[in-house]
Amino acid sequence: MFDLVLENARLVLEDATRDCVVGIKDGDVARIAEPGTRLEGEQILDCAGKLVLPGFIDLHVHFNEPGLTRREDYSTGSSSAAAGGVTLFADMPLSNEPYTLSEAAVRDKFERAAKGSVVDYAVWAGLVEDNTDQLAPMAEAGAYGFKMFTCDGGDGFPMPEPETMRRGFSEAHRLGSFVGVHCEDQAVMDRIAGQDHDDADEISRFLAVHCPEAEMEATRRVIGLSEETGGHLHVCHASLPEVVDMVAEAKKRGVPVTVETCPQYLLCTTDDLSRIGGRLKCTPPVRSADDVEGMWQRIEAGAVDFIGTDHSPAETFEKERASFDQCWGGINGVQFLFPLLHTEGVVRRGLSPELLVRLYSAAPARFIGQYPRKGTLKEGSEATFVIFDPEAQWTIRAEDLLTKHRQTPYAGMSCTGRVEQTWLRGEMVCRFDSDTGKHRLTGRAGCGRPVIPVNNKGK
Ligand SMILES: [Zn+2]
Repeated sequence: MFDLVLENARLVLEDATRDCVVGIKDGDVARIAEPGTRLEGEQILDCAGKLVLPGFIDLHVHFNEPGLTRREDYSTGSSSAAAGGVTLFADMPLSNEPYTLSEAAVRDKFERAAKGSVVDYAVWAGLVEDNTDQLAPMAEAGAYGFKMFTCDGGDGFPMPEPETMRRGFSEAHRLGSFVGVHCEDQAVMDRIAGQDHDDADEISRFLAVHCPEAEMEATRRVIGLSEETGGHLHVCHASLPEVVDMVAEAKKRGVPVTVETCPQYLLCTTDDLSRIGGRLKCTPPVRSADDVEGMWQRIEAGAVDFIGTDHSPAETFEKERASFDQCWGGINGVQFLFPLLHTEGVVRRGLSPELLVRLYSAAPARFIGQYPRKGTLKEGSEATFVIFDPEAQWTIRAEDLLTKHRQTPYAGMSCTGRVEQTWLRGEMVCRFDSDTGKHRLTGRAGCGRPVIPVNNKGK
């Protein structure tokens, strides 16, 4: 007798789609049988017409705990993640106070997430000028990786000196960990900011300063550090096809480097930024329509390792200030990545759902060393999955957000495909309620578990 049986299940994995019956026992996938097989279960779920996908893994979010919980916390952030089908997130070391720069701060985050999160969680640590002695103890405490900036971070997170960066990469290499980098070169941006922009409006000036050259120059430099030290480089939130190409070129030379991109760089352009304003402000900024096309080509070619949201929310007033310069640079989006990219990638561009599953589930599961327990649905995998209705037509409304504040640049966008249910180890943690038209949490805060990376980077 199984605890739960998924009948008429169409499983979408990274490399195949198959119709089957799934038997779940003690939180694991215990049996995958041919369609029509009769499996006895305490609970039967008819999945006809729906897709069953492995739970999504978003390795780039900012949930603001501790210290900035006026914006978000583990309970609200993970609830919104669950509504988006995300069953594991990795929380960044900034946009919280204090920053996550010590062993104690890493342990504190794990304790807070254990109390608040409805899905599984990993914890990023930071790499700054004066904490290289903390990298080993932070890794020991379970840190997922080390985040570093090549410019002054949005909320003041400091950039290390070049020699410290090099030491950080070497140390990450020694620890079997990696450095995740925000690539925008401060010197390039300072040079442009110092030029005369008297005639330009705030958004044009912002785009001029956060220019493609700044992102490419920083990427070049950190690829050099990775090549020199052997430390694994992960390029966070690449916005440009040229950046993905630099990574591909470095990989060919044997440099240990990976790259992620985010939905804003696949869906939005500078025209959208002019129209939407502060709610779409992020760094690197959204780019041209040609760049968006180029990013999709690289997605299709398999040159992007995985995707994450860079969910970095704020109070509504912080995103809607009269001055664009004063608006917070970060986007609320963890609830919508999969439906949005299903709509644009699968429905409009004809990509396979398997590709999205690879980018948002299997590949990040490998990177954090959890595959095949997570990131797929095979016998022996966790029964952590998403029931997705690929036909549902709906429009994103800010009021349906489960985040602490109800604003997102994606409000008003039409989606084809909806996350109907999110399950974590055989228990439903969130479901779409057709009576209210909103997602409703069914899991309890604290049912998520910590994920300590096995640092194999997918190798
Ligand atoms: Zn970020």
